[in-house]
Amino acid sequence: MTEILVSEVGPRDGLQSIKRIMPLEAKKRWIAAEAAAGVREIEVGSFVPPSLLPQMADTADLVAFARGIEGLKVVALVPNAKGAARAAEAGVHAMSIPFSMSETHSLKNLRKDHPAMLAEIAAVAEIAREAGIHFAVGLSTAFGCTMEGAISEDKVVRLAEQAAEAGAQEFSLSDTTGYADPAQVRRLVRKVRAAVGADKMTTLHLHNTRGLGLANVVAGLEEGITTFDASLGGLGGCPFAPGASGNLVTEDLVLMLNAMGLKTGIDLDRLLAVRQILAEALPGEPLYGFTPDAGPMLDYKQRLAA
Ligand code: ZN
Repeated sequence: MTEILVSEVGPRDGLQSIKRIMPLEAKKRWIAAEAAAGVREIEVGSFVPPSLLPQMADTADLVAFARGIEGLKVVALVPNAKGAARAAEAGVHAMSIPFSMSETHSLKNLRKDHPAMLAEIAAVAEIAREAGIHFAVGLSTAFGCTMEGAISEDKVVRLAEQAAEAGAQEFSLSDTTGYADPAQVRRLVRKVRAAVGADKMTTLHLHNTRGLGLANVVAGLEEGITTFDASLGGLGGCPFAPGASGNLVTEDLVLMLNAMGLKTGIDLDRLLAVRQILAEALPGEPLYGFTPDAGPMLDYKQRLAA
């Protein structure tokens, strides 16, 4: 049975895009409950300056807490070398840096052009190597940018190659804007994999902004992608389209993968129960997903057992 890694990014990607601050204790309950449901990797926060993102000020505390959960891989996002040093000190198992394929977006988001980002990636890779920490690069806006429009696939390939030379150990293709379609997912996965190697091109970070999230997952699965990021309740929405759903919904992703007979190790009923923690800690915040409304498929457990 093929094993698929579902990487929960809600505590970072979900929470960073909403204004409200979730109390540390609620974040801990969320992380512990997802791990207990069988989630093996969680991005618990990001090491950005607390003045910029007060929601992420407790990331070091969360890393310390999450490291105490057996079998859980603890990931954090780092925007630069300074953040990477803090992440290493906090004791993350893995860190990832977002590298926007749109230079306009990169300048706006991290105030760095592509050469400056590649220098930062090299510096982060060095910190990660010295600390023995896994280091991934997220190729964000790879499927299109709200500011630049279409992003050339050749450019994505070239920047991925340069990031690999700078020391990236693994890549994800990120549909930051919800523009990806299954044909494009197939093409881009193939091209980047050919450039950096199949062992490095492992992950898709998809959004469900236009309802194509799961279709894009299937395209990725057919191309051999083994890791998918998702956010419980699709938390976070889409920063570029107020009111629209954003991140791929973890519950819907797990329902589909389990139903397809792929091994996630995640118990859907227990995962669905975790939503209650979010609903209580963030009253009024929209939570997305079809499975939570419809309930699990009647026969999904029998299929798992088969
Ligand atoms: Zn996202």
